[in-house]
Amino acid sequence: MSDEPAPRRRSRRASVRVRILATILVVTAFGMAIASGTAFLVQREVELQEVDDHLRATALRVEAAVSGVPASDAAGDAPAEPLPAVATTVELLEVIMSRIPPLQHEGSIALVDEVIRWSPPTTPEVDLSRDEPMLARMVAEAEADGAVIGTVVSEELGSLRYLAMQVGVEGDPAVGLYVTAVDLDSELNDVNTAFAIYALISIGALAVIGLVGWFVSGRLLRPIRQLERTAARITGSDLGERIPVVGNDDISGLTRTMNGMFDRIDGAMTGQRQLLDDVRHELRTPITIVQGHLELLDPDQPDDVRATRDLALDELERMARLVKDIEALARAGGDDLARLEPVDLDELSAQVFAKVSVVPGRRWALQERAAGTAMIDPGRITQAWLQLADNAVKYSDDGSAVTLGSRTVAGMLHCWVQDEGHGIPPEARERIFERFGRVDTGRGVGGSGLGLPIVAAIAASHGGRVELESVPGLGSRFTIVVPLRAGAEEGTDG
Ligand code: ADP
Repeated sequence: MSDEPAPRRRSRRASVRVRILATILVVTAFGMAIASGTAFLVQREVELQEVDDHLRATALRVEAAVSGVPASDAAGDAPAEPLPAVATTVELLEVIMSRIPPLQHEGSIALVDEVIRWSPPTTPEVDLSRDEPMLARMVAEAEADGAVIGTVVSEELGSLRYLAMQVGVEGDPAVGLYVTAVDLDSELNDVNTAFAIYALISIGALAVIGLVGWFVSGRLLRPIRQLERTAARITGSDLGERIPVVGNDDISGLTRTMNGMFDRIDGAMTGQRQLLDDVRHELRTPITIVQGHLELLDPDQPDDVRATRDLALDELERMARLVKDIEALARAGGDDLARLEPVDLDELSAQVFAKVSVVPGRRWALQERAAGTAMIDPGRITQAWLQLADNAVKYSDDGSAVTLGSRTVAGMLHCWVQDEGHGIPPEARERIFERFGRVDTGRGVGGSGLGLPIVAAIAASHGGRVELESVPGLGSRFTIVVPLRAGAEEGTDG
């Protein structure tokens, strides 16, 4: 059951690799085909053009022979040798056949009155006499047009590009026909061979590209596979493991982001586990106390019953307070952001002071009141401020002074509570901000140890902090420091 998703993951991964490779191969093959196809067609066209040029030049030379004027400029390679005078068509064809020898892959033939009269003396490459029906067609075409250049596919001889010309001598009724044909298959053989070699090399190159691509894509995808494996392991069991960051590219960037994510998850999980441990520990004490007393209780002793009842109620109240504080802490440090709104600082200070100053037994004073407005969550800031005042009362003696104040300093709002209490020893100043972190005052002052963490969480949710100055034996001053414009750039307020 547990290894069911594994094959699906593997096949998806393979398909990414195959897709990358297929894309590379298809694009490369397409490019190669376009390039070679174009080159092939152009080269073929050039070859065919050359054949046609040659046939047209031959036509000029035949015409020259017929008219008796040498056409040195037309043929180019023919010296301006005087042409012998001819009296008959047969003689004319003899001159033509002897003066215009067929080239390689070319054959010529002469007919008089549709009868083959003259084949070249050497064994021609292209023996036109082997396909008589084809010759008959050429005769018909030449009779109609005088001279024709065309292409024919002969079963005997393959593809031919030919020139058929009707010739004759004045006074001789015999009709002569000169035919010369170039074997296109042989003529294009070089181009075709070159293309076939190119195709073979292309296939080889594609195979090499495919092979190299397969290994390279495998190498490139390896960090992602490792990322996936490590991520699966991390979420599965141990959150401490991190993926090694190699190089400085997109994948190492992704790795760093993932590691950062794991850090945050790790932190959140550890925090939660710690909270659970702390809560379990804190709840165990009152339960043990109540249980112990109830077990020892003598139901027949009214005094004992009353004392145990008081104690149980006391402990239950402590538990209720603890639960309430945990709730408050969860809310203050939770994901929901502080609900910021413009708050009149003078008014806020006055309100908080009004709330605390009714607590008897202390000499309350409001030292300073900040002016202007700040973007803060008034409910949460009030809660934090009251918590500090509550602590000031808890950890100071009757009749001592407790002073509140607020002030804006360089874009920050400071709200403080100063007491004349016992102060906090330097070694405990960090611990008291931790959950359930308490200093044993030896005076039996009850508390959950969650008050200051709540204050710190509220300040942090505004992007601020809590500052502490304390002289043991003389008193302490706790200050909440939050930006006037929480969420905006600090210091814009001047
Ligand atoms: P609690 O008050 O419930 O113990 P707090 O988180 O509010 O939890 O405070 C943690 C500890 O910090 C207290 O136990 C106390 O020792 C110390 N403390 C807090 N405020 C003051 C203060 N104004 N003067 C002296 N000690 C203080």
